Amino acid sequence: SYRKGGYHAVRIGDPFNAGRYIAQRKLGWGQFSTVWLAYDTQSSNYVALKIQKSATQFSQAALHEIEVLSAIADGDPSNTKCVVRLIDHFKHLGPNGQHQCMVLEFLGDSLLRLIRHNHYKGLHLNKVREICKCILIGLDYLHRELGLLHTDLKPENILLFSTIDPAKDPVNSGASPILSRPESNLNGGSTMNIIEKKLKRRAKKAVAKISGRRTTMGGTTEKPERNLDGVNVRCKVVDFGNACWAAKPFAEEIQTRQYRAPEVILRSGYSFSVDMWSFACTAFELATGDMLFAPKGSQTFCEDEDHLALMMELLGKMPRKIATGGARSKDLFDRHGDLKRIRRLKYWPMNRLLVDRYKFSEDDAREFSDFLCPLFDFAPEKRPTAQQCLQHPWINCTVSINVDMKNQGVATVEKLEVGVNNLHLKARK
Ligand code: ATP
Ligand code: MG
Ligand code: MG
Repeated sequence: SYRKGGYHAVRIGDPFNAGRYIAQRKLGWGQFSTVWLAYDTQSSNYVALKIQKSATQFSQAALHEIEVLSAIADGDPSNTKCVVRLIDHFKHLGPNGQHQCMVLEFLGDSLLRLIRHNHYKGLHLNKVREICKCILIGLDYLHRELGLLHTDLKPENILLFSTIDPAKDPVNSGASPILSRPESNLNGGSTMNIIEKKLKRRAKKAVAKISGRRTTMGGTTEKPERNLDGVNVRCKVVDFGNACWAAKPFAEEIQTRQYRAPEVILRSGYSFSVDMWSFACTAFELATGDMLFAPKGSQTFCEDEDHLALMMELLGKMPRKIATGGARSKDLFDRHGDLKRIRRLKYWPMNRLLVDRYKFSEDDAREFSDFLCPLFDFAPEKRPTAQQCLQHPWINCTVSINVDMKNQGVATVEKLEVGVNNLHLKARK
């Protein structure tokens, strides 16, 4: 991909935009770009520099992304809406052509890495709740204030706030922002290597701190989570390459497979509620470590049909009108609204799944599925909006902790309820 029309090869220390940004290390890459940690000599901050491939279609895609990100930044001057901020953009001419570059605020690991780091065990529900709140604030802003659909919401596209501050790193303090030239990076003991190792170690620690396992009832081998207190999990929605204005959707097939809404599969038209579907899939994955729907095709049915079957096994039968109402309905459903090639479905509702497979307590399972299930309504217009979700009791929850302090000779606290605006102690002498 490092050829004409493709990625731009970057060396540590390379200057961009007339020397304003200095490349520090690679943060990630995607189909369209490589993303670099860079030092902004003007603001003395670290930023993420997204360097797009240079071919025309990639440049056009970048210009669209810049337009969307500019609207996002303009509508949120205080930068509080849990959506990544565009700081600057420019073109960079290199041996492979002209590359559109976006300068974004520097964020941390994705939720996918967080899930992986946690060995696909699922995060503590309190953390899931906090992450969900951030995503909902972002979606509510995009949907209601901007009229924008993300269309590719998934754990990979939600980044945690960086807990690493390269500027405050003791190894780096006082050092020039140009950490090293590429040659020195090859030596085992170069400054860059030491800093990189340190940054990696810190990143690992930070992720370890905020992950942690869900406490379960009964005799499982799972350990209760540590470090529950004092870690404010915050995150932001990123990757607006596929975002579109609700008024002018441009693609028929949107969303990453596992997070795709049924109306997209059936080609029945879509709107904001597709993001709510993906959001609910993401919330489930955070809480359990497993993708909710992971369809596979076979010799007798296609991936789409398996996907719809998995949905109906969890959510019940799709109303006939909806099943038969899309441009692709005839390929998949008969006129009664039954799938053509997958006839026998095993119903396993959400709250049972959470208890039986994921060992949630009955209470946790009920509360979480009360929150999630309405988001999986087959009728898109019936799904709650991000704004409505933010009002839901599960999001604004009262965390109940039963504490028994009998043996310490103090009062027996039966129930400690910590709400957003209230703190109740029900104590018994
Ligand atoms: P895709 O194929 O997913 O559309 P893309 O080329 O549009 O990829 P992004 O998904 O925006 O690129 O970014 C690629 C990776 O770079 C991300 O997965 C993430 O690891 C990293 N990254 C992107 N933006 C930031 C940021 N603001 N701060 C830190 N890392 C980032
Ligand atoms: Mg991406
Ligand atoms: Mg993208």
